Amino acid sequence: MVENLVHLGFDVTLVEQLDQILAPLDREHARLVEGHLRRHGVHLALSDGVAGFAPLEDGSLEVRTQSGKTYPADIVILALGVRPDTTLAGTAGLAIGERGGIRVDEQMRTSDPDILAVGDAVEVKDCVTGHWNLVALVGPANRQGRIAADVIAGRDSRFRGTQGTAIIGLFGAAAAWTGVSEKTLRKLGDLPISHWNGTGDGFLLDVREPVELAVEQVPGALNIPLGQLRSRLGELPRDRDILIICRSGQRAYLATRILLQHGLRARNLAGGMLSRAMLSAE
Ligand SMILES: Cc1cc2nc3c(=O)[nH]c(=O)nc-3n(C[C@H](O)[C@H](O)[C@H](O)COP(=O)(O)OP(=O)(O)OC[C@H]3O[C@@H](n4cnc5c(N)ncnc54)[C@H](O)[C@@H]3O)c2cc1C
Repeated sequence: MVENLVHLGFDVTLVEQLDQILAPLDREHARLVEGHLRRHGVHLALSDGVAGFAPLEDGSLEVRTQSGKTYPADIVILALGVRPDTTLAGTAGLAIGERGGIRVDEQMRTSDPDILAVGDAVEVKDCVTGHWNLVALVGPANRQGRIAADVIAGRDSRFRGTQGTAIIGLFGAAAAWTGVSEKTLRKLGDLPISHWNGTGDGFLLDVREPVELAVEQVPGALNIPLGQLRSRLGELPRDRDILIICRSGQRAYLATRILLQHGLRARNLAGGMLSRAMLSAE
């Protein structure tokens, strides 16, 4: 909607209660999208929820936010997410899950085996975490519909869960996500990731190639290219958190796994040098 309104010549402000747009994205990726929106003239009001609306004398509206700011508007579009309406299922006595959706098994059977349910209204198993989740996307809904039809026809089809893949086009660019975000993983337990703004007194290990260091270096970091890491573990401290750097996070992930398997205290510096560049640009 934001993009379409901009194309129609409107002056558009996106008010968002969270400190980032596109909640499923990790923050550093959301920052890229936010920059892209701003470059196309969209105003972002982050970390500020809408508190109410007031009609003005000229027939327009005033949007009031929790922080006390006001935004004049001719049009207001609410896009605050969806929740399954399971009243009918609940009234029929079907089991409702912990996330508020209809509970079904792998064959889309509800707690009454003669009643099947599919789509936005059912809870699905997240195939990464194994936890129940609500995923309002058409791909899983369609798949579940086919499986329910198979089951009704006597076939042994099963729904294997969902990983919530989505893609959004914005002013010629695309943002996409799949699987679980860092936020979710953090909620579920320990995640061997640190951020550039939280390095503390960690030992910095840079696993990039020397040719990359010629372009940009992190002061104080020890350089051991990933390919040499297993043979040079003796150079690393066993009594400190080791924060691992590469360009985008992928080699640092592999290095983190290697060090953790050897009993060292390793964490991936999320997003690598690309994130560092973005944070210093903010
Ligand atoms: C604006 C918008 C954009 C979206 N864009 C995308 C997208 O780009 N990609 C994507 O993957 N997903 C998208 N979705 C989500 C996608 O539309 C849903 O995930 C999908 O339609 C879910 O299918 P469903 O069969 O569960 O429910 P629905 O498609 O909502 O179908 C349920 C139907 O049941 C009817 N109904 C409800 N109660 C009763 C009743 N008591 N008796 C009879 N009928 C009833 C409703 O009227 C409705 O027609 C979008 C959703 C919206 C609203």
